[in-house]
Amino acid sequence: MSQSLASVAYLGAAILFILSLGGLSNPESSRRGNLLGMIGMTLAVLATVFGPRVTESGIAWIVIALAVGGSVGIFAARTVRMTQMPELVALMHSLVGLAACLVGFASYVDTSVPFQGAEKTVHEAEIYVGILIGAVTFSGSLIAFGKLSGRIGGKPLLLPARHWLNLVALVVVIGLGRQFLNAPDAHTGLAALVAMTAIALLFGIHMVMAIGGADMPVVISMLNSYSGWAAAATGFMLNNDLLIVTGALVGSSGAILSYIMCAAMNRSFISVIAGGFGSGAPKKATAGGQAEPQREVVAISAQETADLLREAKSVIIVPGYGMAVAQAQHTVNEITQVLRARGVQVRFGIHPVAGRMPGHMNVLLAEAKVPYDIVLEMDEINGDFPDTDLAMVIGANDIVNPSALEDPTSPIAGMPVLEVWKAKTSIVMKRSMASGYAGVDNPLFYKENNRMLFGDAKKMLDEVLAALKG
Ligand code: NDP
Repeated sequence: MSQSLASVAYLGAAILFILSLGGLSNPESSRRGNLLGMIGMTLAVLATVFGPRVTESGIAWIVIALAVGGSVGIFAARTVRMTQMPELVALMHSLVGLAACLVGFASYVDTSVPFQGAEKTVHEAEIYVGILIGAVTFSGSLIAFGKLSGRIGGKPLLLPARHWLNLVALVVVIGLGRQFLNAPDAHTGLAALVAMTAIALLFGIHMVMAIGGADMPVVISMLNSYSGWAAAATGFMLNNDLLIVTGALVGSSGAILSYIMCAAMNRSFISVIAGGFGSGAPKKATAGGQAEPQREVVAISAQETADLLREAKSVIIVPGYGMAVAQAQHTVNEITQVLRARGVQVRFGIHPVAGRMPGHMNVLLAEAKVPYDIVLEMDEINGDFPDTDLAMVIGANDIVNPSALEDPTSPIAGMPVLEVWKAKTSIVMKRSMASGYAGVDNPLFYKENNRMLFGDAKKMLDEVLAALKG
């Protein structure tokens, strides 16, 4: 394939990626968006493999890499459970960071293209920055994976003088960069590069370890953004325009998502990155994360829940992480259909950080074929709770915690929440009195108009559905 044909294919792929992103912004067009992205990626891979920069002997290596990577990808996609998706995404981000580091080192030791003068400086600066972003993304994403999968605790690690440590690391990285660019030989340059990589890896670990559980959504979207910039940096190193465009698209959309997540949690981006939020000791929580009841809670049965649903004229369902764990979305949809057939107004209230990844609840509800027009954002529905008969909370906790609004000392203070307690009655469906991801006790459980339906969400909802039909 000639260079010009490859460039045209790259341009086509870039346009398809932009259209894909546009499609993904709405559930109704997301399938089309996905399809366009897949076509774009196929075009990009074909144009690269058969492009002018790959020799015939290189194709064999690419086919082997495609077979290995593709098999791992297919295996992961087939076996990963929906609740493990956020961890998988974090792991994928770490691979983008690792790839940027490896490409950076390979570009530096590859002397087949002799760069001279200013061109050499620019190329080496690209390598340095690419490896820097790649290493931070790699180690930071691995820690995020550990935190999301519960292998590492959610409590922030706050080293003494941590801001100073970060500042010293930054100064050393700048100094090493100068040394790298002025290195008299490849050996000295490589030593500076390895030292900077070690510091960047430690910085990535420190940065994510210092961020508290409640702020993790921002970290996920931020690392998503970093992985985009790492890919763009790889594009500069390899002189590949499509990789630069694609990386910039991921980087900027991740940055916008981080901004949206910060707004959703009422946090400033800088304060999240500085770390330390979510560090307040969970009130009334024991070491096992089980919160002790402060007052009495009123437990009800599935039959009583069905009775309340039957009597209600308007219902708002608030799904959370527990619905994903229980895989209860299909039963939720069936209950919705039964209620709607009886003339009950049923709507869903979705918090921007519900679940463990952006859009988590929307994906689950779309999978269960809940109509899009009754799935509303927090801001659209929050004012309607006082006129609602029943708010049904399914496996959600932090996103319906009134202490975010009422207790300025709470680790989640200031975060807007779904104000379910303003409905005539609220029902919280969960297995125990345990706290949510942020590790804070929830005063909603003890409110007079609140009822607790204890048990696995899927099992309890199956019972509610049977009672409703019976
Ligand atoms: P939470 O983690 O606050 O609460 C989920 C609740 O679900 C738990 O209290 C748990 O209680 C219950 N639960 C778990 N399994 C089941 C089950 N099988 N059946 C019934 N209930 C179950 O989730 P929310 O969605 O309310 O809030 C999201 C939290 O995650 C926020 O703190 C957010 O900051 C954080 N986060 C969000 C990310 C995102 O991008 N959306 C990313 C990373 C973190 P019990 O054990 O008693 O059943």
